[in-house]
Amino acid sequence: TGISTYRGRFAPSPTGALHLGSLVTAIASYLEARTRGGEWLVRIEDLDVVRTLPGAAQQIMQTLELLGMSWDGEIIYQSQRQAAYQAALLRLENEGFMYPCTCSRKEIADTALIGVDGPIYPGSCRAGRSIALSDRPSAWRIRTDNRLIHFEDSVQGSICQRVENEIGDFVLRRADGIYSYQLAVVVDDAWQGITHVVRGADLLHSTSRQIYLQKLLSVETPCYSHVPVVVNEQGEKLSKQTRAEPINLTNPLPQLVAALRFLGQNPPEELSKSDLSTFWEWALANWCVGEIPRRSHVFLKEP
Ligand code: GLU
Ligand code: ZN
Repeated sequence: TGISTYRGRFAPSPTGALHLGSLVTAIASYLEARTRGGEWLVRIEDLDVVRTLPGAAQQIMQTLELLGMSWDGEIIYQSQRQAAYQAALLRLENEGFMYPCTCSRKEIADTALIGVDGPIYPGSCRAGRSIALSDRPSAWRIRTDNRLIHFEDSVQGSICQRVENEIGDFVLRRADGIYSYQLAVVVDDAWQGITHVVRGADLLHSTSRQIYLQKLLSVETPCYSHVPVVVNEQGEKLSKQTRAEPINLTNPLPQLVAALRFLGQNPPEELSKSDLSTFWEWALANWCVGEIPRRSHVFLKEP
């Protein structure tokens, strides 16, 4: 195996077809990897069986292929990685970091302060819960501390967070047995040897939790770039729930060009009327990460 200095990834949740919002993160991670001579991997984040739409993963892969975005290596599915998540959880449990939590959403909402990323878990179950509640199914939370987590995001700049104060002890395994996004992403980014994470800024405040876990699991911390998220006029993130239009595969160029513009790039008007190979030639030759707007979200301009 050779030494690769850049390995990026695109990690869609297969909840629906690729739309302009997910295309933006796909393109940003792809162009950043390819212009730096790196590899680009695709990982399907299908941990949550309820949100997963049958056939969506296949459809996303097919769309990437039709758009001319080829990935390296095998695609991995988080639904097939349970053993790895369980091993990581066991290690943290053996080291005394895990505790069961039987709090309901409502109990937490009633007592918690609201932080940057939702309610700050007040630690109610840290010292163990009463026997009366022990028949409730429990989630597993990780004990956090207040060390300063700091990272330099190549788009958003310097980010600092104290996880215990600002987020609280967080869930690694839900009461329904599903491993959390935070755990799975850390285990998989490490296992796949990801050196650079380019993703939506809606995950900016997840990063300190992930770095916290990386330290406890003694794995490397990748470099992070959080690109703005596409929102509609109501300020909602484009998603299946907000009925985002799938990428039009008979004429994808206007959406590809719109995604580049959204990322602060300056493609010429004619590019919308060209073909895929001309588009990628221009995009690869002119990609400039420094032009990506330093904002958490940008309103959509329809192509
Ligand atoms: N699966 C996540 C999403 O689709 C992305 C996770 C990540 O890039 O870390 O929003
Ligand atoms: Zn609890």
